[in-house]
Amino acid sequence: MDDITKSEEKNENRPGSDGSEHKDDKYEKICFMCRRSESQAGKMISLPGQITVCQDCMQKSFDAMNDPQIRNMLNLQNFTGMKNFPDMGMINLDYIREQMKPPKGVKKPEAAKEEKKAQKAVFDIRSLPAPHKIKAALDDYVIGQEYAKKVISVAVYNHYKRVKTDTNSFEDIEIEKSNMLMIGPTGSGKTYLVKTLSRLLDVPLALADATALTEAGYIGDDVESVLSKLLSAADNDVEKAQNGIVFIDEIDKLAKKQNTNQRDVSGESVQQGLLKLLEGSDVEVPVGATSKNAMVPMTTINTKNILFICGGAFPGIEDIIKTRLTSSSAMGFESRLKDFYDDDPDILTKVTTQDLRDYGMIPEFIGRLPMVFALRKLDRDMLVRILKEPKNAILKQYQKLLELDEVRLEFDDGSLEAIADQALSRDTGARALRSVIEEFMLDIMYEIPKDDNIGKVLITREYIEHTGGPVVTMRGINSALLTGPEA
Ligand code: ADP
Repeated sequence: MDDITKSEEKNENRPGSDGSEHKDDKYEKICFMCRRSESQAGKMISLPGQITVCQDCMQKSFDAMNDPQIRNMLNLQNFTGMKNFPDMGMINLDYIREQMKPPKGVKKPEAAKEEKKAQKAVFDIRSLPAPHKIKAALDDYVIGQEYAKKVISVAVYNHYKRVKTDTNSFEDIEIEKSNMLMIGPTGSGKTYLVKTLSRLLDVPLALADATALTEAGYIGDDVESVLSKLLSAADNDVEKAQNGIVFIDEIDKLAKKQNTNQRDVSGESVQQGLLKLLEGSDVEVPVGATSKNAMVPMTTINTKNILFICGGAFPGIEDIIKTRLTSSSAMGFESRLKDFYDDDPDILTKVTTQDLRDYGMIPEFIGRLPMVFALRKLDRDMLVRILKEPKNAILKQYQKLLELDEVRLEFDDGSLEAIADQALSRDTGARALRSVIEEFMLDIMYEIPKDDNIGKVLITREYIEHTGGPVVTMRGINSALLTGPEA
């Protein structure tokens, strides 16, 4: 038996042999004897001639072959040296091959998964619904950021409308690309917004980091590398990649360096390099690699219909905005004191292209990103909502996990506020929520499965603030207040 399993493993590793042929097959292996599929009967043993047998049936055959009565019946006594193994030569292989054809409708689990993935797209970019419907779908996942969601929905709608009609101009009116620039503090949901959007539209998405880009010829990635990423996200399907989305994060790091005489290969030059991509042009892109060399095959991608979204925190731009706002109203009734905007939480939403130029972005670059908008810094209420409201909210994930152990997990309002407060103090936006939660959920997830009698756990503010424990309710009516996770 071991020998067979080993030879089967070898077969699977050898390209072109039986094993690998089966791997590419989108049908599940079926046991030749009991007709059960691999998902029902477990791993199959491959025999020569593309025969697969489940381990149960294989065992039964061995048992049968070793049964003296059956051996007598089949006259196997004459096969000396074959005491423990059936003679495969006595089987009619053509007949078996005929039998091996899989019944219709039984597919490999992977194939079923792929189909499911394809169904996940909520919208079809060829018949995109009105912007309010796109925003409503985003609302299920992204909390707050109403203005940003509105702008993005309209921009995406217009962009794909332009793509669908496959033209850049209607009767002399040129329709510009709706590339976007998103400004927002770290952890405010910039990447998340773009990721959610690409998933809803089922278009490939490339996430690139501007800090890794350098001018062509210098150490680092060329700007074209973002298109290679997009191509691989589209499974090397050029057509699909040409309708995709590229998100370039940390774009503020490309700002022109002030007071420098050196060549700025990772800042201004990269902005220059990105111009032709943003505008729409044919670009030679290496397939399956991020840098060009003689060994890598190349393909041409047209960026005309690729939606470029740039994002950045632009630290310090608030001061530029404030200075502009206060100096423009320095005289008369409208005049403002210098600190008038100091406590304005929405100062970023007042950003203009002039501010971005003052920050160090070159005018040609900003000109190719016609939609500029800001995301708000997340406050405590928003963080609490992010904890519980999105379709895949962190709390829902933990609740689902414990539900599998038949334990109900609940959080009281105080605990949610305490989690949000701790996350706020870390100053990394919603990103801190997960790390705060993971810290105290570790004990819960460790302790609860120990005791089958636990029916419900209520997380309290005291537990988050380390002054008490969660309220644990046993199945039935008993209720106990734990003094700590160890209790
Ligand atoms: P950044 O703005 O730095 O790109 P991210 O988009 O990566 O921030 O946000 C980090 C995480 O925080 C996301 O994965 C998401 O789970 C969560 N998050 C941030 N903002 C929101 C929001 N408005 N609604 C729901 N979840 C959010």
